[in-house]
Amino acid sequence: MPKTSTNARFRKPFSPARAVKLCAKSHGSAIRYATLEDRLGVGLSSHTRIVYVFSDAGTKPRDGFKAATRMIGINNKPTVEVRFYTEYVVTDPPGYRTTIVHEMKHAGFIGLMGHPYDDLPKWVREGLAVWGSEDVDLRLQTVLCNEIVANRDPMGVLDGIDDPHHTVSDYLEDALAFEWLHTKGPDKVKAFCRRLIKGESHRKIWADLSGATYDEAMAEANAYCRKRVAAALGKAYNEFAALRNANYAAINRGGQAVKKWLDSGAEQRLRNWLAANQGHPAEPFARFCLGRAYIYAGDHAKGRELMTHILQKDGGRCSLLDDAQFWIGVSYNHQRDHRNANAAFGVLLRDFSTSRHTKQLIGKLKPAGPVTRSPENRIRERRSRPSSRRPQSSSPLKNSLGLLAPPDHDEPVLAAVGGGLSQGHLPPAGDLSDRSGLQGASLAGVVPGDGEGAFGLG
Ligand SMILES: [Zn+2]
Repeated sequence: MPKTSTNARFRKPFSPARAVKLCAKSHGSAIRYATLEDRLGVGLSSHTRIVYVFSDAGTKPRDGFKAATRMIGINNKPTVEVRFYTEYVVTDPPGYRTTIVHEMKHAGFIGLMGHPYDDLPKWVREGLAVWGSEDVDLRLQTVLCNEIVANRDPMGVLDGIDDPHHTVSDYLEDALAFEWLHTKGPDKVKAFCRRLIKGESHRKIWADLSGATYDEAMAEANAYCRKRVAAALGKAYNEFAALRNANYAAINRGGQAVKKWLDSGAEQRLRNWLAANQGHPAEPFARFCLGRAYIYAGDHAKGRELMTHILQKDGGRCSLLDDAQFWIGVSYNHQRDHRNANAAFGVLLRDFSTSRHTKQLIGKLKPAGPVTRSPENRIRERRSRPSSRRPQSSSPLKNSLGLLAPPDHDEPVLAAVGGGLSQGHLPPAGDLSDRSGLQGASLAGVVPGDGEGAFGLG
């Protein structure tokens, strides 16, 4: 039985029923076991004891993990505890579903192999989990998009499959390694799993199934990863990078310059790029850049439309949701629509508690109220918590933060810069550059987008 979440969306009257429903979905998961068996050739259901726990991540980014898994003992039986951070569950349902299957794979293998599973290198444990949960394509999208947002060379994530320094970005290479093995024959990954469970060395199996030495096979797999990622990026990546750089340059010159830049043909070029490159890893960020440019240029409705698109459609393939929510608030604020600005920032506080944007709002605005799912609940909600969905005041940002509404001239506006909301220009494009590592990646509010496995077991 899961703990009742304290996340606002799960509060009564929606919790614990909602959490239990989600949990039941996790448990009644014959389909998910079938997916794993189909992909890995191993029946895991009878070997798996899992307890699902839901808890809030709070304001801790937790290195971007959506869930953490660890071994515990219940009635003297080893059991895997999968702890989901509810913020990700509610904001990224597709990612949540994938994460369940991913963790079920870990749990099943632990049930079958016991502690030797711990001794396997991470690339084997995580690669099989991503492959087994049919998450390779989305993982490719998310990891590459995060690198692009962070202004890093996306090819740079390919630092070697069995590179000992392992972060969540490396899960992409791990999974592509098994995709490569799959190209050698449709049953190769299954054979790998079956022999692994019998206790054979992963190096020996890898070599045998590849018909080469371990090192030769690894070199070929690494080359496959480079080819696969290069193909996913294609020419379109360079085209987008040029547009993005011009976008940064315009933003650093202010709102008027952004408007000029858009009017000079950049708007159409970005729109053409988006139309021609649906499914490209940079697509959500291209949408974000255009939406943000609209907001800088004062074309707020168009800007918010693109940010809303990101929130509604791009979850699971990028980590820009909190940025999109934040910029909706900034946009309303710029228009002096404090009611809608506060509502948007309230949603940011409620749903993206780990975002760096959130930190500057905590204690200054209240989170939005729970999301109602049915008319009945909506009525009950209105009666029982009449003020929870109302703005806190007509202008709490102005009143409680000592902030000013946007000035009369068009460029400097109220926005978040660095560590706190202040009067000034919109966040400069430079916010998005010069970032490194997870800490750096969060500078643009980009909570590293991966999830799971933050435990000794992977
Ligand atoms: Zn994992």
